[in-house]
Amino acid sequence: MAEITEENVLIVKYGEIAVRGNNRKFFIERLLRTIRKNLDGLGDFYVVKEQGRLIVEDRGGEMDFDKVIPKVLCIMGIICVSPAVRTKNQDLDNLKAICKKHMNDIGVDEYKTFKIETKRSNKKYPLESREVSAAVGEYILDNFPNSTVDVHNPDLTVYIELRNDAYIYSKLIKGLGGLPVGSSGKGIVMLSGGIDSPVSAFLMAKRGVEVEGVYFNSPPYTSERAKQKVVDLAERLTLFTGSFKLYVVPFTDLQLYLLENVPHDKLTIFLKRAMTRVACILGEKDGALAVITGDSVGQVASQTMQGLHAISAAATMPIIRPLAGFDKQEIVDIARQIGTFDISIRPYEDCCTIFVAKHPETKPKTTVIEKIESKLTELDKYINEAVENAEIIEL
Ligand code: ATP
Ligand code: MG
Repeated sequence: MAEITEENVLIVKYGEIAVRGNNRKFFIERLLRTIRKNLDGLGDFYVVKEQGRLIVEDRGGEMDFDKVIPKVLCIMGIICVSPAVRTKNQDLDNLKAICKKHMNDIGVDEYKTFKIETKRSNKKYPLESREVSAAVGEYILDNFPNSTVDVHNPDLTVYIELRNDAYIYSKLIKGLGGLPVGSSGKGIVMLSGGIDSPVSAFLMAKRGVEVEGVYFNSPPYTSERAKQKVVDLAERLTLFTGSFKLYVVPFTDLQLYLLENVPHDKLTIFLKRAMTRVACILGEKDGALAVITGDSVGQVASQTMQGLHAISAAATMPIIRPLAGFDKQEIVDIARQIGTFDISIRPYEDCCTIFVAKHPETKPKTTVIEKIESKLTELDKYINEAVENAEIIEL
């Protein structure tokens, strides 16, 4: 029997269709970088491209799959991962030995029936795929007398892939799916520090949108810790997206100007319109095609259909509201899953709650709002100042 020459690697499969086209190389490079970033500090990892998939190797020693897999599964566009054994020695005897060991390692007794499925892209290999499957299957039957073969509906499928090297694996662990970040253009999310907007950012990133963010900061009415919370949320989002550009916009002067110059019950609508205009200007500079918000219809006074209409009218690009039709609990569930919830509930003040009216207008008329706004002679000046003084944080 040949000596077992093997190495644990992680096979990473991405949505092949999603990365077709001119930018294919770019998406794959980005996936590769995001995997490297997420694994930083966990070992001496190399991520290599190999015919329509990525292979993660730990050159520092034995790969700790329990640590590595969650950090890879959360990256947008990854369909599944498989912990695998890789070998250069593709002799049939070696493949048999590795399969036997693999079945032992995964606890063969848990599976009554099995099947060996071989894919051979190395066409120089002397045997055909089905011959390899039959020979290895027979060997497994001899070694595990309690197991039987079921080619139609097996409890366990062991895959043997014959490429430049051979790969043996049996688990297909489902990833987030979605599309690789960047494959669907860019959007700018209004990131507030609350529960909703990070979930919106996540959902759009999942559809391949490269998301950057803008936070409206109102010192001294909001604290440094409120800002830090938004930075931490953005940092958390990089787990899924690889990187995140965050604008922190000084909003206090603009906010005080509106406080003094518009009817108090409509203030929130004016504030949101101003935020929207700033977000559009910043986004446009970076080639964003939409503003993304965490609005959910009916959640608060400014999120009525009338409120959203009045706010949207200030935008110069489409506003996408991924959570428009979500209930709060549904949003919270996602926030928990993606690990933003605990950051979002830190109890720091929000710029709008400080300025909010006791009885805000819930059915503003866009025409009325626009008429009032047209008399705000200094609004443009304050908007431009806010844009110019935005701080950029690259995460
Ligand atoms: P969230 O949970 O995202 O804070 P919310 O339910 O508190 O949302 P609002 O405060 O009415 O709702 O804000 C609605 C949306 O407006 C937010 O989801 C966010 O996209 C945007 N927004 C509100 N405040 C800010 C801010 N200070 N900076 C950036 N965006 C903001
Ligand atoms: Mg909020």
